[in-house]
Amino acid sequence: MPAPYLYDNHGRRINYLRLAVTDRCNLRCFYCMPEQGIRYLPREALLTYEEMARLLRILAGMGIDKVRITGGEPFVRRDMMDFLREISRLEKLKRINITTNGTLTAPLVPELKKLGIHSVNLSLDSLDPRRFFNITRRDVFHQVWETFETLLAHGIDTKINAVVMEGKNTEDIVPMAELTRHYPVSVRFIEEMPFNGEGSHYPVLTWNYRRVLSHLQEHYPGMEKIPDPPHSTSTNYRIPGYQGTVGIIAAYSRTFCGTCNRIRLTPKGMLKTCLYDDGVFNVRDILRAGATDEQIRDTFLQALGNRARDGWEAEKMRTFGVPVQESMATIGG
Ligand code: SAM
Ligand code: SF4
Repeated sequence: MPAPYLYDNHGRRINYLRLAVTDRCNLRCFYCMPEQGIRYLPREALLTYEEMARLLRILAGMGIDKVRITGGEPFVRRDMMDFLREISRLEKLKRINITTNGTLTAPLVPELKKLGIHSVNLSLDSLDPRRFFNITRRDVFHQVWETFETLLAHGIDTKINAVVMEGKNTEDIVPMAELTRHYPVSVRFIEEMPFNGEGSHYPVLTWNYRRVLSHLQEHYPGMEKIPDPPHSTSTNYRIPGYQGTVGIIAAYSRTFCGTCNRIRLTPKGMLKTCLYDDGVFNVRDILRAGATDEQIRDTFLQALGNRARDGWEAEKMRTFGVPVQESMATIGG
């Protein structure tokens, strides 16, 4: 008998897993962690590659056909490419996507292409090396840019993620939108969330999705709304005559929760059915206690049967304190 598909208690089919393979990172992005970094998990607390591959196999049998590998920075974990090779053999997994800061990625791109990685989200918050350094606290703009060019040269579907921050990179909004003139890339502007390991940077979010949109519309009065793909977190636009597209992700305002099809596994194996919840159960612990595949399936079904309707409800149900203050690297971005 085939395994049951994953549905939540609101009738939403879940087919997308965001898998954070590490909480470690070689950057210190202002919006993600403090300058001194975060307290990393001990190695044995992380899910092993074998554990992650087993979970992916089980979940692929329950209808998860898309996975995003994220972190922390995925490529700082040793033997990451071996893991990608292994999971690229899972037939039921139709799409493997990766989110990366691009600092170590350029030399790996030819193999990513060979493995059939479908798309790469590259985090790049400024086109100015000085502002880039001010945000990431590392002087590696040129490595990231090389990754961008290499991804495009290899024909990998590429999206740029830029978190918009008052006083840090708002002057980059138009130049980054300009990238879509000559590059077939999707540039997505993301609202900053307070997930930086130390709490909110501002009393209110001044650059929310509405402000980013009106800023773009002022510069590009002809900018057209284009249809959003199903389950898209971004609202998408095209500037007439440009090759790429521009998107805005209301990550803090949470306008897209209604059609959410995703779950997350944090680096230590905590299942999150919403970015804003505090974790539903630790998959690693049940794996290490010797659970059978069937027991693991049942635990996922149960967890999805009690899912918050949206990010606001999930946040209200938190027991670890509101607002969320963990680093995005701990949560898995
Ligand atoms: N290290 C990789 C990277 O930076 O692309 C993957 C992990 S990172 C946590 C995943 C995504 O989360 C990045 O695109 C980053 O911009 C975004 N992110 C991190 N902290 C954020 C925050 N506080 N608000 C909004 N987006 C955030
Ligand atoms: Fe590292 Fe990505 Fe967080 Fe920046 S956003 S500190 S690159 S995990």
